[in-house]
Amino acid sequence: MIEAFRDLLRIPTVSTRDAAAWDHAAFDAFHEALERHFPMLHELPLTRVGRHGLLFHWAGRHADRPVVLMAHIDVVPAEGEWVHPPFGAVVEDGVIWGRGTLDCKGSLTAICQAVEDLLAAGHTPAQDVWLSFGCDEEVAGDAAQLAVEELRQRGVTPWFVLDEGGAVAYDAFPGVDRPMAVVGVTEKGVTSLELRVEGRGGHSSTPAPLGPTARLARAITRLDRSPMRASAPDATMELFRRAAPHARPPIRYALSTAVRSRSLLTRLLLAAGPETAAMARTTFAVTTLSGSPAMNVIAASATAGVSVRILIGDSTESVIRHIRRVIKDPQVQITVLDQAEPSPSSPVDDAFDLLAAVTGTHFPEAVTSPYVMMAATDARFFTAISERVYRFTPFEMTKKQRESIHTTDEHLTVDAYRKGVAWYGSLIERLPAS
Ligand SMILES: [Zn+2]
Repeated sequence: MIEAFRDLLRIPTVSTRDAAAWDHAAFDAFHEALERHFPMLHELPLTRVGRHGLLFHWAGRHADRPVVLMAHIDVVPAEGEWVHPPFGAVVEDGVIWGRGTLDCKGSLTAICQAVEDLLAAGHTPAQDVWLSFGCDEEVAGDAAQLAVEELRQRGVTPWFVLDEGGAVAYDAFPGVDRPMAVVGVTEKGVTSLELRVEGRGGHSSTPAPLGPTARLARAITRLDRSPMRASAPDATMELFRRAAPHARPPIRYALSTAVRSRSLLTRLLLAAGPETAAMARTTFAVTTLSGSPAMNVIAASATAGVSVRILIGDSTESVIRHIRRVIKDPQVQITVLDQAEPSPSSPVDDAFDLLAAVTGTHFPEAVTSPYVMMAATDARFFTAISERVYRFTPFEMTKKQRESIHTTDEHLTVDAYRKGVAWYGSLIERLPAS
C-alpha cells in the first residue's frame, strides 16, 4: 500500500500556466503507474477528461444518489531547501516526505487504494461512485469544468461531491485539545481587480498635484481604512459552536458566550487577528503596484492589483460597489481581471451526517464541523451540478503539516495515510441504498 503511494509521489506531475512548458511525459508516467498499482480500478469504465484528467465510473446497485470523489494529479513546483528530496518519497520514522503527500496525491491514492481493496473483496457499492481526478487544479485549468460537463451530459446529479479541503486538524483552535475534523461547506471567491489612474505624464521636474501615483495611493489608503462589513457566516458560527464545549476554561466560557450571537462572535474574530478576521469578512490585499519605469519620468498611468477573497454573502458586484463608494474618485478605473464568486453553502444534512459518522468511527476523538474554506478548489465547479459539495481530506494533520502545503517539507505519516484509506473504504461501504 505504501509502496504504491511512494511510487506515485516520485513522479513530478507539476502543472504550469505555460502550456509549452507542460511535462506531458510525467503525467503519462503517472497514469501508467496508477494502472499498474490499481489494475482492478482500471477495469472500470474510464473517460479521459481534457488531456490528463480521469473520470472513473463504478456502477452501484442504485444510481439515484450517485457520489463523486475528487482529487487532483498535479502538484505545485517544489522550490527551496527540503530535508528530504521533494520527489524522493523518503520514508523515515513512520513519515512519508514529498511534494503532494497532502496536496493532493495522498487523497488521490487513498481513494484508489480503497476502491481497489473493495473491488478485490467483490464489493458493489449501494450507489454509483464516480472518481474525478483533475490535472490542472493548481493552475486554475479547465479539467474540473470539463468533468462537470461530462457528468451533466450523462444526466448525473450527484447526491454529494467530496474533494480535498479540511482535515482532521490538530492544534486548530487555541485552547481546544481535541482535533477538529473540518469539512468545507463553502469556499471564498477569488477575484482579481486592477485599479488604474491615467494622467499626462511628463518630466519629473514639473509635477502637477494629485498625479496618477498620488491618486492611486489615496485610493489604496482609503480602501485600507474601510474594509467591508464583517459578519460571521453560518458555517463559521457552527464551527465555533461545535468547538466551544471542548475548549479549556476560560476560553470555553468566552467562546460559549460569543457563539450565542453573530455580532459578538464577529467582533471576537475581528479582534483575534488577521487569520480569524478573514473568516468573518471579505478581504482585500493590494499585491502589485506599478507607475513610471524611470526615476525622472512622471507616470502616465499607475496601477494596483487587488486580490479579493469574497466571503459568502458578498459578490464581485457588491465588492466593486464598496470600492467605488470608499475611494470616492471616479478617475480611478476598476477592471475585473478574473472572477470567481464564493460557492453556495452546502447543507449540513444526511450526506454531511454520513461524513461525520464515518469520521467518528475512524477518528473517535475528533470533533466534526462544517467550516468556510479560505482557499479555492476544483470543488467549486461541481456546485453547478450538485447541492452538496464538501471539502475534506481524511488525514490527521498538525499545524506544521498544514503550513507545509505549497511550501517545503510536505509530509504525511504512514499511520495517517492508512487511516485515510480506511476512511474512504468505510464511506463507500456505508453509502445508503436510497
Ligand atoms: Zn490541492
